[in-house]
Amino acid sequence: MKLSILGCGTSTGVPIPGCTCEVCTSGDPKNERMRTSALITTDSGENILIDASPDLHQQALRFKINRLEAVLYTHAHADHILGTDDLRVFNFSRNAPLPCYGDRETLTQLKDFFRYIFEPNPNYEGGLLAKLELNEIEPYSTFSVAELPITPFALSHGSSPVTGYKFGDIAYATDCNYLPSETEELLRNVPVLILDGLRHKAHKTHFTIDQAVAKAQELGAKRTYLIHMTHDVDYHSVNKALPAGIELAYDGLQIEA
Ligand SMILES: [Zn+2]
Ligand SMILES: [Zn+2]
Ligand SMILES: [Zn+2]
Repeated sequence: MKLSILGCGTSTGVPIPGCTCEVCTSGDPKNERMRTSALITTDSGENILIDASPDLHQQALRFKINRLEAVLYTHAHADHILGTDDLRVFNFSRNAPLPCYGDRETLTQLKDFFRYIFEPNPNYEGGLLAKLELNEIEPYSTFSVAELPITPFALSHGSSPVTGYKFGDIAYATDCNYLPSETEELLRNVPVLILDGLRHKAHKTHFTIDQAVAKAQELGAKRTYLIHMTHDVDYHSVNKALPAGIELAYDGLQIEA
């Protein structure tokens, strides 16, 4: 199985339009971060998307994503759902709606946000609407997509719940600053951990890089990749200073497990 990091940037993306800071103007491709999302490719070549970011269209073109079997949503913040409209192009290659998974709150917010998709107006005359099948999931209740067992787990993102996903040897935990004890148990000694590591300065709803490093070490993750970074994080200088087994992710990073 393979996990591709399609984007590892915070909600603004990096560079930030108009920003003249060193990272935003570095021209270094590893400092160019689309909004956070990832793609699981199973051994039989089937693709499962984690979050539909506002950069989905560019991500699909850049990483040649031609077909999707399903979408796993982590939560309904704009930087994780605004690409939902673009999912319609993945209906072209299938004769059935695209299955989407998320917790109850996320699905409720999706239906609210994209009412024109989920409650189409009979007089609608625009382009083709996405056909999505919403599946509610519960933390720690394993389900399968394309024969891959996936275990959702709970995360806290300030006071908002977020769903992380464990599949094979990989756990994906974006947008969080606290892991409940049941999640810590599930992730103990996980071979590959993808974890929120926003920046160095404290934040109310995201782990800082130091907090993420401490959490990864406490869990005993063998390899950890940090995601959801801001423009405060220069890839090369920050990555060099991380302890062994912990790295910054970058767009296009492929992790085999
Ligand atoms: Zn900047
Ligand atoms: Zn968020
Ligand atoms: Zn986010």
